[in-house]
Amino acid sequence: MSVYEVGLRLRGKTVLVVGGGSIAGRRVPRLLAAGAHVRLVAPEATTTLSDLAASGELHWDRRAWRPGDGDDAWFVLAATDDPAVNAAVAAEAEARRTWCVRADDAEASNAWTLAATEFDGVGVAVHASGDPRRAAAVRDAVAAALRAGEIAAPRTRTARPEGGSVALVGAGPGDADLITLRGLELLRRAEVVVSDRLAPQELLDMLGDDVEIVDAAKLPYGRHTTQEQINAVMVERALEGKFVVRLKGGDGFVFGRGAEELDACLEAGVPVEVVPGLSSSIAGPAAAGVPVTERGVVHDFTVATGHVPPGPRSLVDWASLGAGNGTIVLLMAVKNRAAIAAALIDGGRDPRTPVRIVESATTKNQTVRECVLSDLGVTEAHHPSVIVIGAVAGRGREL
Ligand code: SAH
Repeated sequence: MSVYEVGLRLRGKTVLVVGGGSIAGRRVPRLLAAGAHVRLVAPEATTTLSDLAASGELHWDRRAWRPGDGDDAWFVLAATDDPAVNAAVAAEAEARRTWCVRADDAEASNAWTLAATEFDGVGVAVHASGDPRRAAAVRDAVAAALRAGEIAAPRTRTARPEGGSVALVGAGPGDADLITLRGLELLRRAEVVVSDRLAPQELLDMLGDDVEIVDAAKLPYGRHTTQEQINAVMVERALEGKFVVRLKGGDGFVFGRGAEELDACLEAGVPVEVVPGLSSSIAGPAAAGVPVTERGVVHDFTVATGHVPPGPRSLVDWASLGAGNGTIVLLMAVKNRAAIAAALIDGGRDPRTPVRIVESATTKNQTVRECVLSDLGVTEAHHPSVIVIGAVAGRGREL
């Protein structure tokens, strides 16, 4: 079973897919991603495939295969559950000298689909002499190693056009594994990384020696605030032509000054991409077994910052939060937790409302403490903590 590996460049080319079941459902998205014009021939199709047809992303002939269907195809996938039909499709392709994958019979196919993955512009495709599970296992291992940086993939040609840019990347709540694939990919490409105290250190440790790491907490600020300094460094480096990643704990747009950084880039005319992150406001409670919503229990959740105590300087309407019955998630509230609990109770919240304090969520130091609202002020709490208040905190689930 020897094969010669090639990469098909299918942009704009017609690909015939016969059969609308789960195999076609898995293959078609990749064909579409490669830019192929997919023509599906099948009497029935999975919901995903019929949705793709409805939105015009593929063309669906809703009927059985007929000889001649493959006439304008460059490539054919025979994926019906009837071996006789697959054989006829493959025979027609063979006669027309078109490559055809038979999903049901590797031996009878003149082409194979390889187990493929892509990370940061590197495509890897694996076959294992007709053992698809073995190929998938190797593919998964290679993909994981690429993501973890265990396989180096240095660039020798710059794919990036001239001109710098900025990516505002949410690093997730604490555990380095909780950054998104997109965030990790951009981080690996970064020439300059402007980082935050709450961003996982392991993510910085994996960067190459040639990457400039700017520690935002150590910027000198003189006449300017640190935030102005951060904006200035980001924009300056991008204008020098560098690719800058601004790495933030959680999601940069949740109490992360992402708005100011976005504006600074837009005002300077620097191209900017926003990569959302898992915010500690949702991921923190989740990591402690507390869902912020639960069917039949609570229909809303509010995320508020407690860095300003209740009073004229706070923009939060603590009385109406107290009067409500939804979940309240507090960030930056360790210091002011007693005053906040009092304001919520004043507003009408039951003093017995369950509370969980999740410290250093998703890290090896994660600590969870429980109390009721009236005791929040006297219950031990340390930075960084997410405080979650409401019925969902008292459901007795522990991880
Ligand atoms: N942008 C961040 C929040 C920044 S504000 C996000 O979306 O998660 C900083 C506050 O976030 C901290 O005071 C704390 O309340 C919370 N926080 C961030 N990381 C945390 C973690 N791992 N565990 C608990 N709380 C965390």
